[in-house]
Amino acid sequence: MKCGFVSIIGRPNVGKSTLLNNILERKLAITSNKPQTTRNTIQGIYNDDESQIIFIDTPGIHKPKHKLGNVLNKQAFIMMEDVDLILFLVDASETLGPGDKFILEKLKDHKNVILLLTKIDKIKNDQILLKIDEYKDLHDFKEIIPISSVKNRNVNELIQTIKKYLNENPKYYDDELVTTLKEEFLISEYIRENVLALTSEEVPHAVTVMIEKIKNEANMVSVYAAVVVDRDSLKKIIIGKQGSMLKNIGSNSRKVIEEYYGKKVYLELFVKTIKNWRDKEHHLNDMGFKL
Ligand code: GDP
Repeated sequence: MKCGFVSIIGRPNVGKSTLLNNILERKLAITSNKPQTTRNTIQGIYNDDESQIIFIDTPGIHKPKHKLGNVLNKQAFIMMEDVDLILFLVDASETLGPGDKFILEKLKDHKNVILLLTKIDKIKNDQILLKIDEYKDLHDFKEIIPISSVKNRNVNELIQTIKKYLNENPKYYDDELVTTLKEEFLISEYIRENVLALTSEEVPHAVTVMIEKIKNEANMVSVYAAVVVDRDSLKKIIIGKQGSMLKNIGSNSRKVIEEYYGKKVYLELFVKTIKNWRDKEHHLNDMGFKL
């Protein structure tokens, strides 16, 4: 059995979450066109008859503004050293920027790096070749693979290629266990994604969702969750006029959660303010971030 850890890195918006979702064929990581919304390091796990690939989706590498940013940057780079393989994603439809160079510098000593040129559905084939040319001397990449997660180009080939770089190991995680472990996290991300989708620019960095309880019964699942913000002004925005925004967030989230369970869902949402939670380490710990 080929089993191992694979880290997905790259600037925000290059398509990390979309690729992961495509590979796992189930909505797992959060995707959004607002940058830097993937905060947690997510382990998406791909299983088939001959392999288990544990993906680590690192948050966008960025200059930290808050403590949370610091933690995430540290985490992103710690992860890189422990993995069997790194997938470095760059957006082939954009020019090579300082952000990519920064990451390349960090990758310098890492031997197992595959470069993925993403979003190739947006460019012509000869441009893809030019991109390969541009990148091939910047690092000793094991492979350079052009992909499109949206058009499903080279994604299966990528999975087969990844297996080449993993060791013979027993599975790290039981297939069944994986789903249970991720349940709370997934549900909280579904809700957070709907908060982001319905609210304005100022909200994303300041919101997290905590699941208080999930009761899974024969015909129905009940979910109780808190949307946590760091300012009362945001709390007002999220609740909306006479609770209308929260109601919309709730009903949109409920639909996705019902899809996930394949059952009726009762969702109870409330909004909590925890002042400056991003700078409060114990709250970060409570929310499952490692410091
Ligand atoms: P992340 O920040 O690196 O996780 O990037 P996301 O996966 O959230 O993707 C950022 C944006 O790029 C989203 O709007 C995606 O729909 C889009 N995107 C991702 N992959 C592709 C692709 O293969 N082709 C195209 N055209 N767009 C893509």
